[in-house]
Amino acid sequence: MKPTGAAMMAGVIGQPIAHSLSPLMMAHWIEAAGLNALYGPYIASPHMFAPVALALQRSGLSGLNVTLPHKEQALVIAHRISDRADAIGAANLLTFADGEVHADNTDAPGFIGSLKASGGDPAGQRVLVLGAGGAARSIVYGLVEAGASSIIIANRNRDRAKALRDRIAPAAEITGWDGREEVVSDVDIVVNATSLGLTGQPVLDMDFTKASKPLIVADSVYSPLKTAFLRTAEEAGHKTVDGLGMLIEQGKPSFEAFFGQPAPDVDVRTPLMAALGETP
Ligand code: NDP
Repeated sequence: MKPTGAAMMAGVIGQPIAHSLSPLMMAHWIEAAGLNALYGPYIASPHMFAPVALALQRSGLSGLNVTLPHKEQALVIAHRISDRADAIGAANLLTFADGEVHADNTDAPGFIGSLKASGGDPAGQRVLVLGAGGAARSIVYGLVEAGASSIIIANRNRDRAKALRDRIAPAAEITGWDGREEVVSDVDIVVNATSLGLTGQPVLDMDFTKASKPLIVADSVYSPLKTAFLRTAEEAGHKTVDGLGMLIEQGKPSFEAFFGQPAPDVDVRTPLMAALGETP
């Protein structure tokens, strides 16, 4: 359906925003659901985040996805914050209702949903998480919630790893960044939650040959889709999960929050891969 003046509206706010795949993903779901709706990209510098987001609320949007660098600021304008967003200290979903702003975090269930969809239920599993930034906070929260038996965090800045542990997973172990490969023999799942491997960033070097069994190796990075980290894991015989699944899974509850119905069960992965210049 072509949108009319009565269209429901939502969007994604960040800076930069031109690279965001969310408008494309949401447009596919909107079309498949036959909705009279629009989902647009909105740019805002850090000091303009609050005025722009609140102006969009006043202009009738039902909500916003929030991306870098605003996920922490998103909590500041919220009247209500979900337990999950509060614990993680960041929100990627703002919904507007009755003049109020409600903040939630769907990155955490998004990561777990993607892992499970690839056959990797973390319940009872030992997981090595590389990184301690915003994505790692969501991923570690999701792993705790999903019942991982133990979590080991390795981050270049050890103090940041300790802060993540103290905030979200007090039982987690910390290992040095240079010792990350030693731990591989003792885990079931390895997750890259650093920005290493992202186009324009250095690659994440990891030796998987010390693994004592087949692992599940997941990346939060989705551009490129097959990072050197995932390629190395695949070559060593491990199952891999790319970061696009996390993006899609975090989008599903956002769609439902904006438009009042579940995201239709259609293939959005293929068009998103095409937008990334990847062949299915
Ligand atoms: P942050 O800036 O918050 O954290 C960056 C992390 O990368 C830190 O742990 C940092 O370590 C580490 N890092 C950066 N450079 C290096 C380096 N040279 N050597 C070792 N470690 C390094 O970023 P985010 O957590 O927000 O994002 C991380 C990744 O997750 C990004 O690639 C992002 O695209 C992806 N992401 C994917 C999502 C999805 O839906 N698939 C959703 C959200 C994020 P240190 O603390 O030592 O600086």
